[in-house]
Amino acid sequence: MTYQEIVELTAEHVMYTYKRLPVAFVRGEGCKLWDAEGQEWLDFVGGIAVCSQGHCHPKVVAAIREQAGLIMHTSNLYYIGPQARLAEKLCRISFADKVFFCNSGAEANEAAIKLARKYAEVHYGPQRHEIIAARGSFHGRTMTTLTATGQEKFHQHFHPLMPGFEHVDLNDLEALRAAITPQTCAVLLEPVQGESGVRPCAAEYLPAVRELCDEHELLLILDEIQCGLGRTGKWFAYEHYGVKPDIMTLAKALGGGFPIGACACTDQVAAAFEPGDHATTFGGNHLACAAALAALEALEEEGLIENSARVGAYLRGGLQGLEAKFPLIREVRGMGLMAALELDRPGAADIQAELFDRQILVNAIGDRIVRMVPPLCVTEAECDRLLEALEGALGKMEA
Ligand SMILES: *Cc1c(COP(=O)(O)O)cnc(C)c1O
Repeated sequence: MTYQEIVELTAEHVMYTYKRLPVAFVRGEGCKLWDAEGQEWLDFVGGIAVCSQGHCHPKVVAAIREQAGLIMHTSNLYYIGPQARLAEKLCRISFADKVFFCNSGAEANEAAIKLARKYAEVHYGPQRHEIIAARGSFHGRTMTTLTATGQEKFHQHFHPLMPGFEHVDLNDLEALRAAITPQTCAVLLEPVQGESGVRPCAAEYLPAVRELCDEHELLLILDEIQCGLGRTGKWFAYEHYGVKPDIMTLAKALGGGFPIGACACTDQVAAAFEPGDHATTFGGNHLACAAALAALEALEEEGLIENSARVGAYLRGGLQGLEAKFPLIREVRGMGLMAALELDRPGAADIQAELFDRQILVNAIGDRIVRMVPPLCVTEAECDRLLEALEGALGKMEA
């Protein structure tokens, strides 16, 4: 298919829920992509923090090929070897003791919310069901995770929302304390907010939230769907804060490009779920779990988490250099290879477009934020190419 054919067929038959940039990729390797015309691109979006292992990581590709030829799906009516091994692996690298598998981030958060409510009901009674989340958060697009999402723009047109959610400003401990009522069952946070433009929890905030949760016997749910699995330079972002959650959700990078989500928790919390409480047809199938096992091994064996810390610091340094040079940059934020530039004026789309013309992908959020979440195998030289292009785009903007 030519690019034009893809565009026309999409316009005719695919529901118009995405405003797409004018390119169709047909192949990927590491941080590089090739479009339908054979042009090479540099990818600092990584499928929105999904392709952390690099596009088409050979280990992930081989695992999918092999598993696809053996068995892909049987349902959770029966035992699934790769699911058991993946759960063991996730528990070994995290605080968790037990894992539930699903197919996406939103589903992982749905599982976490159901689990927290069941846990609170079992231990404290059904009046305890409210969840406090943060403004600026993003937790998914199902009705419940949309309600948990603390951004009005996603709520528009979809009322009535679900009951049982409150929102407070991120990094405002007193606001959180004041929002706790006898109905509260859990606090749900991203250690680093992704979709609102890379906004980390303050160093002292998460530990204080953990203490507050312990004091009030609330569960702490951390949504690490975007910031987890090496993105911030450690396996999990919570490790930067010296805290452990009760429940953690994962998805995005977990399958190395293949769809899979997970809700992980302690034994104490997991005990609240009984057979029949929660289920999914596809979740934890052989193929997805085999892909995820290979994806986690790729992160580990190739030192991609260390690379994320090292190259992430290099990228941030470069961005801070631009900040010193261009007053129109309001702020540089980031942790590992999760980075953002915030402008003091609208222009994020112009920067995205300018870089697009140079065949470099970055992601504009709103009209002032440029986000970079490249594959974790990105090199300093590739960052230099990005920084040079950004300098050109910022220079044009300031002129
Ligand atoms: C992407 C994302 C989700 C939703 O994941 P989907 O797979 O799109 O449902 C939830 N939380 C965070 C933090 C995310 O970045």
